[in-house]
Amino acid sequence: GYNKALKENRNLYNMLQEMRGNIRVFCRIRPLNSESISSIEYIGNDGSIMVCDPSKAQTTRKIFQFNKTFGPTTTQDEVYMETQSLIRSVMDGYNVCIFAYGQTGSGKTHTMCGPSGGLSSNDLGVNNMALNDLFTISTSREDMKYDIRVQMVEIYNEQVHIRTSTNGLFNIPDAKMCPVQSPSDVMNLMLLGEKHRSSGPTAMNNRSSRSHSILTVHVNGKDMSGNVSCSCLHLVDLAGSERVDRSEATGDRLKEAQHINKSLSCLGDVITALAQKNSHIPYRNSKLTQLLQSSLGGNAKTLMLAHISPEGESYVETLSTLKFAQRVSIVELGTPHANKESNDIRELKEQVDTLKKALATKD
Ligand code: ADP
Ligand code: MG
Repeated sequence: GYNKALKENRNLYNMLQEMRGNIRVFCRIRPLNSESISSIEYIGNDGSIMVCDPSKAQTTRKIFQFNKTFGPTTTQDEVYMETQSLIRSVMDGYNVCIFAYGQTGSGKTHTMCGPSGGLSSNDLGVNNMALNDLFTISTSREDMKYDIRVQMVEIYNEQVHIRTSTNGLFNIPDAKMCPVQSPSDVMNLMLLGEKHRSSGPTAMNNRSSRSHSILTVHVNGKDMSGNVSCSCLHLVDLAGSERVDRSEATGDRLKEAQHINKSLSCLGDVITALAQKNSHIPYRNSKLTQLLQSSLGGNAKTLMLAHISPEGESYVETLSTLKFAQRVSIVELGTPHANKESNDIRELKEQVDTLKKALATKD
């Protein structure tokens, strides 16, 4: 019964996936810290993941389904390979947003900037590999001429800070974009941006997990007959998604937490609204979604990379991340109990019907 239910769920998932178009969700689990017991029971090569709380004797298993789930032995290259075609589509005029979501310590910066968090050029993340790739394409294509510019922005407490500029200074509002000629230009720029992000007067190292960091690559292309295309790739290292205990947080910390909670839930609302093809998309509710508005929706492509800390102690946050990721990708598979499953499938069928109706009324 369990396998049949799983299969049926997967079929529904694929159906929903087709309807939702340009939104994909991947999950990445980082290696387990020694001394801990894992909350990850199973990772399927179909993108499914099963988790449970190892501290509970009578534990309930939960299954989630994503487009892909990367286990703890997945390399940076393997992750990049799966995002490459999406990233390359920027050169064909598509806007692309890639978000790294997850609690602090779950590996967001590792994925985007590499193990050293962008401070060394030895081991790369999605950001560097993407830029290298785009430069390679721009120099190899004879039918097109490209102009590539990058910008690094941080959103902290709903305020936008520009982190890089042409002359390497910090926080110059009118120095918005840096033209770059080579991957090493970009590398230097990113090192600079990361250094600004992780050092400074007010324990910025902690602050980096409480701000959203956005690397934007602007690509202008011109073909032989003079037709121009203009598109953006946004690579976003989101603020830590962990809930702050209200009784503990006061003052600045509470304010930060409220801004983060609000902006992450706004992002979830926007992506969910896009996935459901709602007529109203609530972009205006946060700086992050306002800033990315032109690159979210329409024919833009969105990828959510949900990051998981596998330790049992992180189970509550893990579940919350999986639920967030599932919400933006619609389908939740629930617990492997025959009754519960049939309920879930009923709910899914209702969702499919609702979506079908919504689509039908749109045309
Ligand atoms: P976040 O940005 O989500 O707060 P980090 O990227 O800083 O998390 O990762 C926390 C720690 O775990 C770092 O020491 C990082 O090097 C390590 N880490 C994260 N992901 C991986 C991975 N896939 N493989 C090995 N180490 C990882
Ligand atoms: Mg980080």
